[in-house]
Amino acid sequence: MDYELTETPKLIRDPARRIARERVQPRAAEIDEQGEYPEDIFAVFRQAGLMGLTIPPEYGGGGSFLALALTVEETAKYCCSSGLILLLSALSTQSIVIAGSEELKQAWLPRSAAGDVRGAFCLTEPNAGSDAAAIESRAVRDGDEYVIDGEKMFISGGSVADFVVTFAKTDPAAGTRGFSAFVVPTDNPGFSVARLDRKMGVTGVPTANLVFQNCRVPASNLIGEEGRGFHIAMLNMGTCRPVVGARGLGLAQGALTYALDFARQRRTFGRPILEHQAIQFTLADMATQIQAARHLIYHACWLVDQGKYDRQYAPYLSFAKVFATEMAVKVSSDALQILGAQGYMKDHPLERHYRDARQLMIVEGTSQVQRIIIARGLAEGDIVYG
Ligand SMILES: Cc1cc2nc3c(=O)[nH]c(=O)nc-3n(C[C@H](O)[C@H](O)[C@H](O)COP(=O)(O)OP(=O)(O)OC[C@H]3O[C@@H](n4cnc5c(N)ncnc54)[C@H](O)[C@@H]3O)c2cc1C
Repeated sequence: MDYELTETPKLIRDPARRIARERVQPRAAEIDEQGEYPEDIFAVFRQAGLMGLTIPPEYGGGGSFLALALTVEETAKYCCSSGLILLLSALSTQSIVIAGSEELKQAWLPRSAAGDVRGAFCLTEPNAGSDAAAIESRAVRDGDEYVIDGEKMFISGGSVADFVVTFAKTDPAAGTRGFSAFVVPTDNPGFSVARLDRKMGVTGVPTANLVFQNCRVPASNLIGEEGRGFHIAMLNMGTCRPVVGARGLGLAQGALTYALDFARQRRTFGRPILEHQAIQFTLADMATQIQAARHLIYHACWLVDQGKYDRQYAPYLSFAKVFATEMAVKVSSDALQILGAQGYMKDHPLERHYRDARQLMIVEGTSQVQRIIIARGLAEGDIVYG
């Protein structure tokens, strides 16, 4: 891999950094406290052309996961919720990009890239999280339509979406080959938001429980072929995993920068705490972990941008996700510790970073699931060194 960033992601990063510092940073604490979707931040991203970074250029987007990761990294330095808003633009459209018909692509991708519509990704159900093949939602073909029934849980942005990509069984006896992917506009009769969750962090993006009840969609809303839903869902999540890592990377970088600045100012035993070796070593370890995560993420996004994201590359995408998200929990905790009691207070952003970081080890495949994927890659010889 060429470690010099190519021109396109570099062109995105500088404006993204400015937007993050000037527009996102001042709103971050408020977004957390209000616990409401920040429409103003969405509007800023939309205006800056950041809502379609991974959508192919022929549909109005930027076509680069590396560009998205860089933008998310900059944003999450201040606000992990705002980073998730950017990530959702990819998570909700990637199934359509990978497997959608030309009609579906034309219907949803240009408008998503322009930020005229936004989507959500609906896989998890009350009885199916890590074991996604256990979903119970059903989709039954009825003439030119499918009728979808079922319940989805913990869906990020589900209550503010104009469309959702959802997964339902079309042939329950056929296991992972028996479920299919659909686009459902949220103004469709039979679709409803049943409940919003109260949660520990990332409060700026609502997490919703969604119900599909006799929800009819045209058969043309099927994404790809019937029975390919599981495969599509895995590719969708796989490509977006390094960007979940980028949320952790930005968050950790933001925490390190804040703690470093604090360590310069705070004095104990007659000197700035930055001059105590224990603090120096903690900061050095934080920086090392952050830099390692950065390389894993950029490499994984580069693979995705080369079209290398099928099963054999999955471990590399998981390396980035599991390492960066666990790193974010550790680094945000260490940063909080450097502030002492002040780190625990809401006057500083570190308690928020710490709460937000904890989400990242759970979503889009828990840390355990990432290790299962990596171990499978080891066993199958997919991980090539050197
Ligand atoms: C804030 C938030 C936002 C979310 N957003 C979305 C979204 O937008 N769309 C969506 O579809 N889902 C979303 N999710 C759901 C998320 O993807 C699931 O929570 C996740 O996949 C884990 O599923 P689960 O919670 O049912 O845990 P379970 O699958 O019940 O697992 C429970 C525990 O057991 C472990 N475990 C399970 N199986 C194994 C195994 N074989 N070996 C070892 N350990 C195992 C897990 O790692 C976990 O620690 C969101 C969740 C949260 C918290």
